[in-house]
Amino acid sequence: MDLPPELPAVALVDLDAVARNVGAVRRRVGPAAVMAVVKADAYGHGLVPVARAALAGGATWLGVAHVHEALALRRAGIGADVLAWILTPGTDLVPAVRAGVDLSVAAAWSLEAVVAAAREAGRRARVHLEVDTGMSRGGASPAEWPALLDAVADHVAAGDVEVRGTWAHFASADVPADPSVTAQLAAFEAALASAREHGVDPGLRHHANSAAAFFVPQARYDLVRAGLAVYGLSPAPDLATGAELGLVPAMTLAARLAHVRRVPAGAGVSYGLTYTTATDTTLALVPLGYGDGVPRHASWDGRRSGEVLVGGARHRIAGRVCMDQVVLDLGDATAAPGDAALVFGPGADGEATADDWAQVAGTISWEVVTRVGARVPRRHTGTAGVPTPGQTPAGAPAGAPAEVPA
Ligand SMILES: *Cc1c(COP(=O)(O)O)cnc(C)c1O
Repeated sequence: MDLPPELPAVALVDLDAVARNVGAVRRRVGPAAVMAVVKADAYGHGLVPVARAALAGGATWLGVAHVHEALALRRAGIGADVLAWILTPGTDLVPAVRAGVDLSVAAAWSLEAVVAAAREAGRRARVHLEVDTGMSRGGASPAEWPALLDAVADHVAAGDVEVRGTWAHFASADVPADPSVTAQLAAFEAALASAREHGVDPGLRHHANSAAAFFVPQARYDLVRAGLAVYGLSPAPDLATGAELGLVPAMTLAARLAHVRRVPAGAGVSYGLTYTTATDTTLALVPLGYGDGVPRHASWDGRRSGEVLVGGARHRIAGRVCMDQVVLDLGDATAAPGDAALVFGPGADGEATADDWAQVAGTISWEVVTRVGARVPRRHTGTAGVPTPGQTPAGAPAGAPAEVPA
């Protein structure tokens, strides 16, 4: 692992791993296509480089939550199909329609907003209809669905919109045997049939997240929306590890020790002095804290805490996670300021994984990687999707370029 010498801490992101992970998903779900979900700065991994690497790995769609995330992709010159699925009133949708961004529609108000933007842009808007199949989060309810379809059919006929997809989202695909999974699939089938009855071609059908892509074959349809798997983490570690799924974690969070010193037995450590050294021991300071995404819930609780790899061995956090730092209890291991400390990574050198941190902190690996703070510089390694001089970067518009927003 090459820690840039000038940085106190860094998140290293392996773009080749991203591309290979997309390949692993593709092989699993083919002939369905893969939408790489790159919302929230690509789960903390860096939006644009990860999007390019995912496309280089065979993703044909990109998915984001917000319109501004889709426009950031366009500004970077990425012309691949992009879907943005959270619309809120007041967002100017004209730049998105002009840039050929697909927009999700789940209600009468958002359909009208998209239609108004299409008319102003002078071009048909591309929409994906979202139906709620049982999660009660986004999507038109079964009661709202027929009226939405009638309105969509009218706007398709008028040339305002083109329906490119119809989609829904699972509540519990990480528990494939949960009865809700079959119930949601049945509700989706009913919604698709209803669309056809209302004269609306559903377009690309998509319901699967990473967990469903791997564990619910009937849910793959035409396209799967894979997020976590792209980053190399298992969406259901109890069912299969990432390695068993052919995935490699793309992110390594690392730092350099800032301070190392010997303390006697009985020393209280960090805020609240919740940790007391049992023997004479060596303490080391890692310059990463909850301001950088190290979960405060991974503090010492009297039994366990998050573990950081120093000098080939994992050492526990002594006491509480602070905003900018944690203290490790190294015992009698030797270490010096400047030594590398691995918070999490693929695990190949014995370091903890994002799954380990999720366990200790009582959360999920999605949150562990996504929360890595903006203060931590991202350094991308590998070559997948990296534009080289004279070469068209992955995702560059093939034909007439979409209008790029300012
Ligand atoms: C975040 C998200 C995904 C990706 O989920 P993973 O579990 O990370 O694969 C897919 N679809 C929607 C609508 C999402 O919000």
